[in-house]
Amino acid sequence: MGASDLINLSGLIDDAKCFALVRQHRWPEGACCPVCDSGAVIRDGYDDTQPYRQRYRCKACAGRFDDLTGTVLSGHHQPLRVWVLCLYFMCLNLSNRQIALELGLDASDVQAMTEQLRRGLVAKAPEVELGGEVEIDEVYVVAGHKGQPKEVAKRGGSGAAAGWQARRDAARWRRTNHPSSA
Ligand SMILES: [Zn+2]
Repeated sequence: MGASDLINLSGLIDDAKCFALVRQHRWPEGACCPVCDSGAVIRDGYDDTQPYRQRYRCKACAGRFDDLTGTVLSGHHQPLRVWVLCLYFMCLNLSNRQIALELGLDASDVQAMTEQLRRGLVAKAPEVELGGEVEIDEVYVVAGHKGQPKEVAKRGGSGAAAGWQARRDAARWRRTNHPSSA
């Protein structure tokens, strides 16, 4: 390990824990199929290039998916740990420019990432072929939120239901990430 690895924050992050974090947030009751919503899924090995990215097969519809399928975190050139750090910095109320400096990324890349994260972790259309409109889950993370759920609902939610879900998911995210401050 070179000296540059030691000062690169993302190099210190545990990939396995990042994927565990996504699974815990996305499927607190256990993995279920993003196509047919069935819980009858079996684990089907790991991604060829990302050794902690669990693959699944749905016994109900025979669909295949993995931990990141249908999330903004999939199909992006940034590794999951960079997304997790980006989210963490957003929670610390860092600007896009500061986040870009910390992560060694272009400000425009960070801008795109924070916009996507604010829109929702699992708000993107799944990669699997689907008909009609499908909504799986959503999470809003509002930078600088410090125990003011009404502000979260105002800024992040697009309605009463969205506000409720935003508060619930924000709380879950905080519990997951900042157990000491809960
Ligand atoms: Zn299915």
